[in-house]
Amino acid sequence: MDEISRRDFLVLSALTGVGITKGLAVAAAVAQDPAGPAPDWFDRPMRWAQLTLVENDPGRYDPQFWLDYFSRIHADAACLSAGGVVAYYPTKIPLHHRSAWMRDTDPFGTLFDGCRRNNMAVIARTDPHATHQDVHDAHPDWIAVDADGRKRRHWASPELWVTCALGPYNFEFMTEVHKEIASRYRVDGIFGNRWSGSGMCYCEHCQRNFRAAYGLDLPRTTDPRDPARRAYLAWQEQRLFELWRLWDREIRAINPRARFIANAGGGALSPLDMKTVGRIADILFADRQARRGLMPIWANGKNAKEYRAVLGAKPIGGIFSVGVEEPYRWKDSVQSEPEIRMWVADGTANGMRPWFTKFSGELYDRRWLATVEKIYTWHHRVERYLRNERPLARVGLVYSQQTATYYGGDRARERVEDHTLGFYHALIEARVPFEMVHDRLLDRERLQAFKLLILPNVACLSDVQCDELRAFVRDGGGIVSTFETSLYDEQGTPRTDFALADLFGARRTGPVEGPMHNSYLRLQHGANGRVHPLLAGLEDTPRMINGVWRVPVAPASASTDALLTLIPSYPDLPMEMVYPRGERPDLPQLLARDVDRGRVVYFPWDIDRTFWEVLSADHGRLIANAVEWATNEERPVTVSGAGLLDVTIWRQRSSMTVHLVNLTNPMMMKGPVRELIPVGEQRVRVRIPDGDAVARVQLLVADATPRVERSSTYLDVTVPSITDHEVVAIDFR
Ligand SMILES: [Zn+2]
Repeated sequence: MDEISRRDFLVLSALTGVGITKGLAVAAAVAQDPAGPAPDWFDRPMRWAQLTLVENDPGRYDPQFWLDYFSRIHADAACLSAGGVVAYYPTKIPLHHRSAWMRDTDPFGTLFDGCRRNNMAVIARTDPHATHQDVHDAHPDWIAVDADGRKRRHWASPELWVTCALGPYNFEFMTEVHKEIASRYRVDGIFGNRWSGSGMCYCEHCQRNFRAAYGLDLPRTTDPRDPARRAYLAWQEQRLFELWRLWDREIRAINPRARFIANAGGGALSPLDMKTVGRIADILFADRQARRGLMPIWANGKNAKEYRAVLGAKPIGGIFSVGVEEPYRWKDSVQSEPEIRMWVADGTANGMRPWFTKFSGELYDRRWLATVEKIYTWHHRVERYLRNERPLARVGLVYSQQTATYYGGDRARERVEDHTLGFYHALIEARVPFEMVHDRLLDRERLQAFKLLILPNVACLSDVQCDELRAFVRDGGGIVSTFETSLYDEQGTPRTDFALADLFGARRTGPVEGPMHNSYLRLQHGANGRVHPLLAGLEDTPRMINGVWRVPVAPASASTDALLTLIPSYPDLPMEMVYPRGERPDLPQLLARDVDRGRVVYFPWDIDRTFWEVLSADHGRLIANAVEWATNEERPVTVSGAGLLDVTIWRQRSSMTVHLVNLTNPMMMKGPVRELIPVGEQRVRVRIPDGDAVARVQLLVADATPRVERSSTYLDVTVPSITDHEVVAIDFR
C-alpha cells in the first residue's frame, strides 16, 4: 500500500494544478466509501479512563489497583496502551518492540480482561510516531527526513527515531500491528495517537509519491500561495485520510464492531478537513488535555462545539489530563482540583463525555484520584440528563479551515483564530447559548436549527458558500460579519469586492488600513434621543475606541443608516499634539439593515480580534447588541445575575437541561484556578417548547429542588448559588 492507489491517483490527477482545494480532493476520494451500518457500542460509554503505560511499568505497577479504580469511579470505557513504539502484549511482528520489562507476561491482555469483567468498552492505544534503532537499521527508509536530508532523531528521546507517517512504516508495518491487536483481542477499536506525522518529511517515499501525484518537488516554503505548498497540503491530507481508511478497513475486516479512531480534529487551525472527519468517524475524542498560557476555561467547551459542528450527535470524548500542560511537559504532575473541575465541567456543559488520561501505571502523586472520582460519581448519578439529543442554541459561530489555511497561513492564529476568540468571549459574557458551525456545512438542512450566523473575518468563501448564506438570510436568518469576510475565494485568491456586498450593503473602496493608533468611532445617536438597539448601553458617550485594522467601504446606497462613523487616527505624542484632525461622517464603521426576512450587521473592521486583544467593554457591548438585534427573536434561555457564566441548553429524550458553568474567578483568563468562588443568585428563564408539560425541575449539582414560577410559555427558576457548575434539569411528562 505504499504507492498511491490508482483510484486516488485518478482523483488527484483530475484536481491537479492551482485549482486544487485541500478538502475537496479528500471529499472526492472519501465519497466513494460506502458507509457501513453503525454498531451500537459507540454511544454507550459515558465516562472514559485512559491509562498509558510507560515501558518499565510491567512488573512494577499494580494492574488491580487500576481496575478497582475504574470500577469505583463508574468508568464504562477504557483506552489502554497496546503497541507502536512499545508493545505491551506478546507481539509476533518482527521489529515491534516489546517492553523490556514485560518478560513473558501480557500487560495489555491483563488490563483488557479486567476491564471486560467490569463490563467496559475497551480500545487499544497505539503510538507510531517514534521507533527504535533496530527499525532504523533494518528499514532506514521508514525514518522521517528533515529539509536538509538528515534522518530525524527523536527530539525528546534521542535514542529513538522519528518515523515517516506517510510511507511504509504506517501503511505496512503499523497496519500489521493493528491487525494483530484486533485479532488477538476483541477490542472495540484502536486509538491512534500521534499517527499523522511530526512535521514535514522529505524521505524518499514522500518525494516519490508526491511527485507521482503532482509532478512537483516537495515544497520548501510554508507560504500557502506557493503552488507546491498548496499541492502538498492537499496531498498530505489525502494521504492521511487514506491511511485512516486503510486501518479502519483492516480492523473492521477482523471485527466489524471495531473502528480505527484517529486522534484528530479541532477548529479552524486543525489540519484535517473536519467535514470529512465528521463523516468517517463514528466516535471521536478531543485531545485538549488542559489549558496553558492565556487560555480561558471555556476553551474546553469551544473544542466540544468545534467537534460537534461536524459530528452532530455522535459521541465525543473530552480528553483531560490531570497534570499541568505547559510547554515544559511535566507529564507526571497533578493540577489543582478546582482547575480540573472547571475544565471538565465546561466540556460536559458543551456536550463532551469526560475522559481522563494518566501516564504511568506507577503513581508519584495521588491527589488527582479523589478529584476524578468526585466528578465521575456525580456524572454517573445524573447520567440520563447528560445524554444530549441536540443543543437548542439558535446562534452559530462559523469557523473556516480554508480561511486559516489559505488566508491565515503561518499567521492564522492572529489573522483568523483571534477573531473567533473575540466573538466567543463576547458571547460568553452576554450569556448567549451558541454553537459552532463548519463553513463547509452551510446547507439549508444543517442551518435549520439556527436563527443567526456569525462570520468572524471568514475571509475565504466560495461562490457556493455565499449563495448558501444568501439563502439563509432569505429564509429569515440573520448574519453578523466582520472585516475581510468574503473578500477572498475558497482558495485564498483575492476578490475585487466582497462576494457578500449585497448582504452587507457596502462595497470595498481600498486596501486594508492599519495598524491604526488612536482612532475612534463616532456614535450617531438619533437626534430625537431615540437610541438604536445596536447602540444600547452606550447612550452616555458620543464616541468610543476603534479597532486596529479596517477595510475602507462605502455604503451601497445613500439611505443606509450609519450608526458608527470613523474618527481617523491622530497623533498620540507629544501630548500637545493629541487632538482630532477632523472626522469622516461619510465613512461608516457599522452597517446594519434588513435584508429579505433577515437582518445583516457588518463591521468593516476587526472588532472581534481587537476585543480579544484589548477586551474593551464597549466593544463587548457592541458585539452583544449586534447579535441580539440580528437574531431578532427571543433566546431559548435567559440568565440574569452577577458573574461570568457559560450557558448551554440541551434537549434530552424527555427533558431539557440548562448548564451554568461558573467561570467567575480571578484565574479565569490564566490558570490554574486555585479555589472555586461561588456566584450568587441567578434567575434562569427558559422557554418551554410547545406541547411539552413540565413534570419536575431539579438542580443536579446542588441535588435540590429550586424555587420555580411557571407561566404558559416560561419557567422561571431561581438558582441560589453556583460553585463551579449547576445543571437545571426540566423533566417533561
Ligand atoms: Zn516521508
